[in-house]
Amino acid sequence: METKSVADSSPAIEVTNACHATSLDAGIDGDMPVKYTVSVRALWEFSAKRGNLDVRFTPAPSAEEGIVGHKTVTSRRPSQYQSEMSLTGEYKHLLVRGRADGFDPVLNQLEEIKTFRGELGMMPDNHRQLHWAQVRIYGWLLCRKLGLPRIGLALVYFDIVSKKEVVLNETQEAGALKAYFDDQCERFLNCAEQELIHGAGRNEALIHLTFPHGSFRTGQRQLAEAVYKAAVLGRCLIAQAPTGIGKTIGTLFPLLKAWPGQKLDKIFFLTAKTSGRKLALDALMLIRRAQPSLPLRVLELVARDKACEHPDKACHGASCPLANGFYDRLPQARSAALALAGADVLDKDALRGLAHEHRVCPYYLSQDLIQWSDVIVGDYNHYFDLGAVLYGLTVANQWTVDVLVDEAHNLIGRARKMYTAELDQSHFQSARRSAPGQLGKVLARLDHSWNAFSKESAEAYRVSAVPDSFLAALRQAINAITKYLTENPNGIDGELPRFYFDSLRFTGICETFDEHSLFDVTANVRNKKASGVKKQTSRTRSVCVVLYLRNVIPAPLIARRFAVARSTVLFSATLSPYRFYSDMVGLPQNTGWVDVESPFKPEQLLVKVVSNISTRYRYREASISPIVDLISRQYLQKPGNYLAFFSRFDYLQRVTRQFRSSHPSISISEQRRGMDEIEQDVFLARFPPTSRGIGFAVLGGSFAEGIDLPGSRLSGAFIATLGLPQVNRVNEQLKLRMDTMRNAGYDYTYFFPGIQKVVQAAGRVIRTQSDRGIIYLIDDRFTQPDVRRLLPRWWKTERFQGA
Ligand code: SF4
Repeated sequence: METKSVADSSPAIEVTNACHATSLDAGIDGDMPVKYTVSVRALWEFSAKRGNLDVRFTPAPSAEEGIVGHKTVTSRRPSQYQSEMSLTGEYKHLLVRGRADGFDPVLNQLEEIKTFRGELGMMPDNHRQLHWAQVRIYGWLLCRKLGLPRIGLALVYFDIVSKKEVVLNETQEAGALKAYFDDQCERFLNCAEQELIHGAGRNEALIHLTFPHGSFRTGQRQLAEAVYKAAVLGRCLIAQAPTGIGKTIGTLFPLLKAWPGQKLDKIFFLTAKTSGRKLALDALMLIRRAQPSLPLRVLELVARDKACEHPDKACHGASCPLANGFYDRLPQARSAALALAGADVLDKDALRGLAHEHRVCPYYLSQDLIQWSDVIVGDYNHYFDLGAVLYGLTVANQWTVDVLVDEAHNLIGRARKMYTAELDQSHFQSARRSAPGQLGKVLARLDHSWNAFSKESAEAYRVSAVPDSFLAALRQAINAITKYLTENPNGIDGELPRFYFDSLRFTGICETFDEHSLFDVTANVRNKKASGVKKQTSRTRSVCVVLYLRNVIPAPLIARRFAVARSTVLFSATLSPYRFYSDMVGLPQNTGWVDVESPFKPEQLLVKVVSNISTRYRYREASISPIVDLISRQYLQKPGNYLAFFSRFDYLQRVTRQFRSSHPSISISEQRRGMDEIEQDVFLARFPPTSRGIGFAVLGGSFAEGIDLPGSRLSGAFIATLGLPQVNRVNEQLKLRMDTMRNAGYDYTYFFPGIQKVVQAAGRVIRTQSDRGIIYLIDDRFTQPDVRRLLPRWWKTERFQGA
């Protein structure tokens, strides 16, 4: 078989290669029957899940707690104990594989270890039955492997708080286990055969897939070839590619072409914003329409609060009607979804309709459909977060996946948020007031720890280490609330649930705490009424502290996700310098880099560097009048739609105020803090092709990236400042840490993120090859070589001193 490399010949992606025969290509009617591979986990989940959806016995221990719990149990076992045994077995067209937790050959006992928190007795019976199903399947696979006539099976429940084990045992004959295994496989078989047919048809169609637009745009081919090559080589890629070349389809198409040859199981398309998901779904629909015979199942994932039909209810059968009997109705809902997936993408609306028809929860239906989908379009956190579902399933099922990360310049900031936790003392105090009496003692102990903490925090801000005594008190409080919650599932309200989940997150993040993160404490001084005083005659001061576990460099945590995927492609219009992004997110050494040629010509864009204005903090006041003059002069010279960007809201407001009073006849719109989606739409609606006016916005905000105003909808942009993040106590601590770890404190904290925001904002002006526009870069530092090196190569800048 020949695999044609993209590097060998540029049109390789369009060529139909007959070389990509996979095990599925023979089809199930071929001479050599192919196998459908299923993990033990997927098998028992499919065949043994019955009854109600019930996530009450949660929150389960975090992944890190689970790992530590497993290690604790296995460390207690004798030397002959064998951990993590890989096991496989076959049944007709099925290949079942998985990893059993441990086996003691002397006792002839196979163990499945489950970590838990709370009351084991509250675990729903169907959960326990699932655990037995799992250990029995492993039991047969081991009997088969070692030729054992019978075996002891044990479910080991390990309480991560008390560190105690509860062990449930049974002994099974090999024959009985085989019958059980065969029965579970038989239930899955029909589905497996359909999956084999689906996979074979999909792969065959992908081999013949042609580019839906007929030809590539300038730069799009270069991008597509680099992505294809990365997929074939099984490595990561950073792709900087300008706006307007069609990056979404330019990355999806080559991965789909690479699919059969690389025997992929899934592609994950991850976005930072909802608008990115929509573009990906549209691109996939376009590919499907161009090749109607392509049976590609496309699923959109949304957050639970966006999909939930009963936000006032809890996710268990006694509370939510869509959880009641969920697993009994799931097979029909799943079949209907897979039938629909043949004609349409399974986006949020489609899933909602299906869920309504079959009376199941749309969110948990979408979670089930991950297993059966080919391309999954979701948010970054579906793969990169600590408890990310796509990452977890990929590891558990040993899937071969390729990952696309759209607008990847956002990944550093988003990942930092995912690995950061905060705990606010004022939230704790509110929670304590609304807590039931039986939690009083444990919360009083935690209060004592908080107070000791706040007394120490005479300074408004300090970097510290998490005190062990505080963590111990917090963990005790969590355990007490968990116990209360399992006994009284509907019994807590007010601020307590919020504090509880914040605390769980805080202790979870604490487990990953290392030099990549900071622990800092901010003290907020508040004046409050003195107690017992009816009229407000006196006030006392109270100090509430906010604790932060603040991720600085996400690389060590994200790197694990890159290692699990076969190939990951990070793409965006602004990923310079490459070293900064790859270093911060922890891409492997052999990651490829492509800087895609721009389709735009320098003649399309005038870039004027206004070098006689300084926007440094001490000169801001003095810069306002010249900036107002500059904007108005350009507008009067060439009326049209313009955006003016500023580093901060207060700067924006001062310029806007002066502009409004100096030029009342010019229409303006102003970005405000915390605008919701409707307000943002209203702001953008003021930029039709026929209108004229100035929009004032902040760099890095909603109107500085991810918006499309082609043609005369936007004639130009003014960018005041280098976009450098504010110098404050937190950023100075980040800089110190970045200096220690990367020897690049200023660049990594201020300079590179700042210029990236400038280039993103400027990228709003030229969106198509017929656009024309102007950009004013307002600050003398834009003339410096270090800054110019980070600007797009196709820009031709000229100095402008007319301000
Ligand atoms: S509809 Fe909402 S409350 Fe009901 S199971 Fe789904 S997510 Fe939970």
